[in-house]
Amino acid sequence: MQYYSLYKSAPTVSFREAVINGQAPDKGLYFPDNIPQVSKELIRNLSAYSKEAIGFEVMKPYVGGSIPDDILKKIVEETVSFPFPLIHVDEHIYSLELFHGPTYAFKDVGARFMSRCLGYFNQNDSRKTTILVATSGDTGGAVANGFLGVEGVDVIILYPSGKVSPVQELQLTTCGQNITALEIEGSFDDCQSIVKQAFADNDLKEKYRLTSANSINVGRWLPQQLYYFYALQQWKENDAPVISVPSGNFGNICAGIVAYVSGLPVKHFIAACNSNDTIPKFMATEKYEPQESVTTISNAMDVGNPSNFVRILELFHQNISELKSLFIQRFCFR
Ligand SMILES: *Cc1c(COP(=O)(O)O)cnc(C)c1O
Repeated sequence: MQYYSLYKSAPTVSFREAVINGQAPDKGLYFPDNIPQVSKELIRNLSAYSKEAIGFEVMKPYVGGSIPDDILKKIVEETVSFPFPLIHVDEHIYSLELFHGPTYAFKDVGARFMSRCLGYFNQNDSRKTTILVATSGDTGGAVANGFLGVEGVDVIILYPSGKVSPVQELQLTTCGQNITALEIEGSFDDCQSIVKQAFADNDLKEKYRLTSANSINVGRWLPQQLYYFYALQQWKENDAPVISVPSGNFGNICAGIVAYVSGLPVKHFIAACNSNDTIPKFMATEKYEPQESVTTISNAMDVGNPSNFVRILELFHQNISELKSLFIQRFCFR
């Protein structure tokens, strides 16, 4: 598996390089050069497989030889070492609980997978890697926890002052060791633009090997597919599900769409947004107009310029009507 830049003016790279670089040198996001089909046998008999076995089968083609099988198996085992229960809510309605990881954020899955991959890639390297990450709340804690104590990796977290919850602020600022949290006077988008600016700074890049741990990074983005396999594993209804995903940077739902394109049966996706409604507006007007993010009580979704939406467009070959037939946008949490 090779990864190309969505801006199409950087060389294609292996999974290893895509994880180490975070973003392509032309500032595009990396995207897999094909979406492999998951075996029909696996899809038909999901409930007969362990979550570790599903995780290994699904992730193996994406890792594409960058990590030996026995080590990848161990990484997957450690990544999904907590339950993902599908809870019955009402007739035909279920909730997939993704808060059983160490920081209670679904981002634990991506952060744990990526940190272990990077730990493996760094093994025989004397140069340190510095991870720069912007957070609106949940990402920082999951990344801090996932990378705490990983040899050869320093983590710098930027978070918007007064806009994360007290528990989140404690998760970010009390790790110590290789984790540094910086409180930024501004919004999440300001934090994200500082991170992007740092990646574009050649002087900085000469001194530090910088990478991101936002869902920009394929090592964090792609393992999120596994939630959808685990949901379907526990799904007992006859029809394929309609899946509603609370969305901010659109990494989670985009990973779900990757799972769908690989063969997982899903009827529709609903991107649930709060007042930060850049994508619902795009679906209505077909014009992409990023907005300043507005602060809400669902702070993990306060994103005015969702990074991963370009990946969703790529999955649909930039065909907006095809995208619309799978995708419904909903407004909630107003
Ligand atoms: C991160 C997060 C989101 C947004 O996820 P994206 O992948 O950025 O769309 C929504 N809700 C919660 C609780 C989160 O932690």
